[in-house]
Amino acid sequence: MRRVYLDHAATTPVRPEVFEAMIPYLTERFGNPSSIHSFGREARMELDRARERTAALIGAQPEEIVFTGGGSEADNHAIRGAAMTALGKRNHIITSAIEHHAVLDTVNSLKALGFDVTVLPVNGYGLVDPADVRASMTDRTFMVSIMHANNEVGTVQPIREIAAIAHERGALMHTDAVQSVGHLDIDVNELGVDLLSMAAHKFYGPKGVGALYIRKGVRISPLITGGGQERKRRAGTENTAGIVGMGVAAELAMAELDLERARETALRDRLIAGLLSTIPHTMLNGHPTMRLPNNVNISYMYVEGESLLLNLDMAGIAASSGSACTSGSLEPSHVLMAMGISHEVAHGSVRMSIGRGTTEEDVDYVLGVMPRIVEKLRSMSPTYDKKGECCIKDLCANPQDCMRAGGASAPNAPASVSASMGQAMR
Ligand SMILES: *Cc1c(COP(=O)(O)O)cnc(C)c1O
Repeated sequence: MRRVYLDHAATTPVRPEVFEAMIPYLTERFGNPSSIHSFGREARMELDRARERTAALIGAQPEEIVFTGGGSEADNHAIRGAAMTALGKRNHIITSAIEHHAVLDTVNSLKALGFDVTVLPVNGYGLVDPADVRASMTDRTFMVSIMHANNEVGTVQPIREIAAIAHERGALMHTDAVQSVGHLDIDVNELGVDLLSMAAHKFYGPKGVGALYIRKGVRISPLITGGGQERKRRAGTENTAGIVGMGVAAELAMAELDLERARETALRDRLIAGLLSTIPHTMLNGHPTMRLPNNVNISYMYVEGESLLLNLDMAGIAASSGSACTSGSLEPSHVLMAMGISHEVAHGSVRMSIGRGTTEEDVDYVLGVMPRIVEKLRSMSPTYDKKGECCIKDLCANPQDCMRAGGASAPNAPASVSASMGQAMR
């Protein structure tokens, strides 16, 4: 059976060139980069090269890069590190409702330490209004943390504008750019950010390695203390092989960025147009143009997203509903909720994320399979009336009575249908 991986926003495969480059640092070049002998020196040399390559990808200086154990650690380091440094001086942080949990949960954890938290809303496209940032700023705000591109709906934020507002009042600007690094042109100076998070496995590098960009002159407390590695900004013997892999992935991403972005954008738009035109009662989530080149997030009304995913998987297609971390829970995506999308519609949303390996044939295969799956699931749904009438959202007098009550209270739904529907929804 054909297998089509459309979950590149969750993780990407390691490129062969990356893997090849890593092998020596897991075998004969095993030295500790802090050792002064030749084993240590050859590891150190390659570490420095990886730092240059990683910095170049985002227009930074090598000494502004701190390697971390991934994107979540970079987010934690930026936020907790800045909060600890601000302690006793400034006590307010601003973020948005659509952040990755690595940011959202970290920011919220600061409340217990006495910090004030502002979580800004977004509009229907998932965009933060810079005017809202300005209105929330005070002289006690130490940081504004707004993501560059959203991992669920792909919306890209006006970071440059927001960073300028943060700086007017002396706050630091952090952006979680885990989804956009290696996929969009990123220059930390153009964006005007002080701190930026990235993760290698989102651009064909290995998992468990990432980086935090810390602008020269910006002082934040370390998250992990101990040895003096990473200029005392991140203790612990470096993940040499992982970092080397990240460097090679960064260099390749930079070299191919323009071509690959254009190629993926074309595939993305073909997939979006095909799905919306062949399947009725569908809606694109996120901004139509200010979005990642690889993100397709669509709501299929009257369908349970999890059932869609299972049926897609049976057809060899790997997609996702919500973020990879929250799938498995029945909570609708906090991102779609923040965009004002109803529970029912949010539950019928599926994210497909394109990557380097995705071809036009893959897209056409999905376009061939998806309408049949959606039709099949809808024909089993007690909330879907083939005449095009329904009981969901604004078409219904009591939308809250429709789907989430396990189907039991769905109008006109026989109990047996409701029960089997409940089964299908796990
Ligand atoms: C994947 C992701 C993270 C977490 O990165 P890890 O390397 O898995 O820790 C953080 N933010 C965003 C936007 C992501 O997509």
